[in-house]
Amino acid sequence: MTSAPAPLPLGPTTQRQAPPRFSARPAGEATLTRQPAPPPGTEVRLLRGRDSWWAVHGNRVARLPLAAVHGEGPAPTLTPQARAALAEGRFFASPNADTYAVTVLTATACNLGCSYCFQNTALPPPGSSAPPRIRAATLTSDLIARTTAFVQRQMSRFGQGQASLLLFGGEPLLNPVGAVRILRALQPLNLVDADIVTNGVLLTPRLAGQLTAAGLRRMQITFDGARPDHDRIRVTRDGRATYDKILRNVADAVRRTDLSWTFRVNVSHRNIGDLDRLIEDLASVTVPGRTSLHLSLVDDVGLGYDNAVGYTPGLADRFIALHARAIEYGMTIPVSKPLTACPYCSTFGGDGGAVINADGHLYSCWETAGREGWSVGDVTDGYLPAETIRSRWVPCDYDILPHGSDEQAREFFDRVDATALDGMYAAGRLAAPAPGRAPAVEPRSAHRP
Ligand code: SF4
Repeated sequence: MTSAPAPLPLGPTTQRQAPPRFSARPAGEATLTRQPAPPPGTEVRLLRGRDSWWAVHGNRVARLPLAAVHGEGPAPTLTPQARAALAEGRFFASPNADTYAVTVLTATACNLGCSYCFQNTALPPPGSSAPPRIRAATLTSDLIARTTAFVQRQMSRFGQGQASLLLFGGEPLLNPVGAVRILRALQPLNLVDADIVTNGVLLTPRLAGQLTAAGLRRMQITFDGARPDHDRIRVTRDGRATYDKILRNVADAVRRTDLSWTFRVNVSHRNIGDLDRLIEDLASVTVPGRTSLHLSLVDDVGLGYDNAVGYTPGLADRFIALHARAIEYGMTIPVSKPLTACPYCSTFGGDGGAVINADGHLYSCWETAGREGWSVGDVTDGYLPAETIRSRWVPCDYDILPHGSDEQAREFFDRVDATALDGMYAAGRLAAPAPGRAPAVEPRSAHRP
């Protein structure tokens, strides 16, 4: 183990920056939205809707009358009465306090060659679809046993009574046996939730059934635009198109299972013009009420992958129009939430969860997983001493080039999220509060890291 982390490669125009504060992220397929942090003590986002305010806290959303909030602009505040009413309904209670969150990379290799992938170590050579990547590793049966024992020790140590799992890669379905086995292995630890982030190319109906039977609840699959754009960007490592194959695989799995689906769409100047067609195609293979659409700008993590689109009013208009289309088709739209809620990086030392590479090494973040010099321990011996890992403990999105100023990002997400909430509310896509609980409504499809 090296004593100091090797820095991630930075492109000439990339600068390290303060971490983003709002997230919803998955992996090689990053699903992340960013915003400036709310001031300390005002951790609730307040968004001005059409004829109400929306309060957002973690995965919870409450619709409030206009009189419940003082002020407009960047610093609206809840009235004491509104805050008390929300507190009484346990709006501020952490829904995940009793859950130990585990991300396991079942395979770090990938069958695709996306140029922007944060697990690449450089852009692909000209004319190639095979960028250099982090070291290949595959989760073995022995490591599954050691991972399960590690998770059990951590849950006992921190007092959690249940676990959640995110299957991650590389492409996790390059190791289907490992994916099914780790799901089964964690069931006795009271596994209450399980997701996978996959590119969808290797998903067969049989495998979808096996994963569901083993406890999987939700799949996230990424698209890079409608067919022509996607098939230029998201290609196999020998350059073959994937759009139709992924859609067919999703259609088969939708028929075969009751999984929920999140479609992350990587947005850039390369595909922004034609995303309506993608939404139509997704709607044609999925079931209303079980599908969520997450538009997100492609980041440059220091590789030099350019994206000319930024957080402008024009982009907000475009996102709002696309979201409206998706809501019409029965989809939900995730709302960004603070990165302070990330179970992996937000507390030093991993008391909320762990990111576990396929070789058994621990990391503070998906983005550093598998990178030389960034390991913070392993599943056999646990975490390294605090003084060793302090400089390696980085938050989600710690290394990306921003798409605008903090103020531009805040205005963008406040407007886009408020409009999406208005739209979902009008369409009846927000769940009603539980009996006896606060004036809160919760999105059926929570935005999860
Ligand atoms: S499909 Fe593979 S190459 Fe593309 S972003 Fe995901 S992990 Fe990276």
